[in-house]
Amino acid sequence: MDEIFSKIRKNPIDPIRLTENARFKFKCHKGIACFNKCCGDLDIFLTPYDIIRMKNRFNQTSGQFLLEHTEQVITEKTLLPMIKLKMGEDKRCRFVSADGCTIYKDRPISCRYYPMGVGTLDSKDTTSKDVERGNFYFMIKEDHCMGFNENSEQNIMEWRVDQEIADYDEINKDWVKLILNRKMSGSEVTPDEKSVRMFFIGCYDIDSFKNFVFESKFLSLFKVESELIERMKTDDVTALKLALKWLLYALFREPTMNLNK
Ligand code: SF4
Ligand code: SF4
Repeated sequence: MDEIFSKIRKNPIDPIRLTENARFKFKCHKGIACFNKCCGDLDIFLTPYDIIRMKNRFNQTSGQFLLEHTEQVITEKTLLPMIKLKMGEDKRCRFVSADGCTIYKDRPISCRYYPMGVGTLDSKDTTSKDVERGNFYFMIKEDHCMGFNENSEQNIMEWRVDQEIADYDEINKDWVKLILNRKMSGSEVTPDEKSVRMFFIGCYDIDSFKNFVFESKFLSLFKVESELIERMKTDDVTALKLALKWLLYALFREPTMNLNK
């Protein structure tokens, strides 16, 4: 299986695949003895929408945010850049305080899912349709986490609603298709430097992507509705959706863009 979203530590992942209806006992709250213990010594991979939420919260450009708060890693599986949140020198998340997460409203999706992760079928067997059909979930049971002893029960669907996850899924869905595309996940294609750069800009550096659209031949090459062009000037999510369609077209020849005749 491939993990898509999870707070990654050397953590004990329960191998049982769960569906949205699976019920579990868990509650996290400020009064709990382990409060904040889960916010350190871990890898938090960011999705494109996580980056947009955080860079706008800090009133930064995507370039400034990436430089100040993240590290880039190339995964062996996809050979594509993934973005990790930089931890502090003490290995704690730089956004944690005694009162909890200081960016709670804009915390990344992995933090929203925790103590759960999301996976999908092995990428060799994964097509765009599999991703659209849905993923499965797994529990991350860490010794320090006492939330499992609390007397509050819900199913995964209810947890997702409570954590406001649906918007993230909707906006990130084409990014998930890109990172799980078997042409790059297997040995079929090794992305060249240009493809890696395009992927980075389109997925993570949205302000550079906007500059690229308005300062290159992009708009004379591709048919893009004028209303959408206007909207993306002020709306990063609109720009991201276009960027991901462009990457699916340019890297995998999916029919997601129309050429101007
Ligand atoms: S209950 Fe679990 S998720 Fe909540 S603060 Fe404790 S360790 Fe973190
Ligand atoms: S972003 Fe917030 S919730 Fe996530 S690890 Fe950092 S402090 Fe914890």
